[in-house]
Amino acid sequence: MILDGRALSQQRLEILKEKIQEAGISPHLATIIVGSDPGSRMYVRMKHKACEQVGIHSIGLELLESSLTDELIRRVRMLNEDPDIDGILIQLPLPVHIDSHQVLEAVSPAKDVDGFHTHNIGSLVAGMPGLTPCTPTGIMTILSDYHIPVAGAHAVVIGRSIDVGKPMASLLINADATVTVCHSKTSDLSYYTRHADIVISAAGRPKLITAGMIRPGATVIDVGINHVDGVLCGDVDFESVLEVAGAITPVPGGVGPMTIATLMENTYRAAMDACRPAQ
Ligand code: NAP
Repeated sequence: MILDGRALSQQRLEILKEKIQEAGISPHLATIIVGSDPGSRMYVRMKHKACEQVGIHSIGLELLESSLTDELIRRVRMLNEDPDIDGILIQLPLPVHIDSHQVLEAVSPAKDVDGFHTHNIGSLVAGMPGLTPCTPTGIMTILSDYHIPVAGAHAVVIGRSIDVGKPMASLLINADATVTVCHSKTSDLSYYTRHADIVISAAGRPKLITAGMIRPGATVIDVGINHVDGVLCGDVDFESVLEVAGAITPVPGGVGPMTIATLMENTYRAAMDACRPAQ
């Protein structure tokens, strides 16, 4: 079975559009991009397009490559204080001279629709409510909407980054999976993947996962975004793994669209939370 993230994301966006209309709210997302990297610009455009599709108002701040950490933090604080803004997204990666951690920490946790603030990461690890990172949350949606059992399953996550691997592992643990996290220092990666019911690869290494590494019938989620000879591909050798896996996400058209749909859902959530009277 091919797990069609593109189709699923469209369904989710349609549902979200109705929810926003029914709630009678007008969520606002602010994006910040620094510099002119064409890839980053494309992602930001896609996010604004999704906003338009569901009825989220969006504004985009474009800062020069030469901008400094302090300037960026000042902008973030202005957005934090703006009652019209529900969600703030800082497009990563930031130029190397900017302290990304400081900038992400400046975002109000209530408006942190990317779920990268340590407050939200801490809530996730503690199993408390909060905004959770879009890519791993989108993967959990794929698993649940395709009725792939997670509770009791052995999930192997490849990658331990703060934006994908670690929150992915926490979400899976919170959903009662048994989780193994692998990384570049893991010896014999295939030993772990061959014993997995669910393999989630977020390494950014083309053809890292081959058919011999997958238990027949297992679910394979490919997070990787790689360019080989100008062609976009994931971490998984799709053609060969398709023969053994029970279910698999393609690249493109798998995890990527779900990341954007989840960003829209997080923005809606932040807007709804902002409407609720304080306890
Ligand atoms: P990252 O910060 O570079 O982390 C990569 C992780 O993979 C690290 O933990 C690294 O181990 C591990 N790794 C690298 N080579 C490995 C190998 N040969 N075997 C096992 N583990 C290995 O990247 P990221 O931000 O997590 O993103 C990962 C990939 O997902 C990238 O291709 C990125 O473009 C893509 N991505 C896609 C989406 C989407 O929406 N589709 C969203 C975010 C990211 P160490 O920790 O030991 O270095």
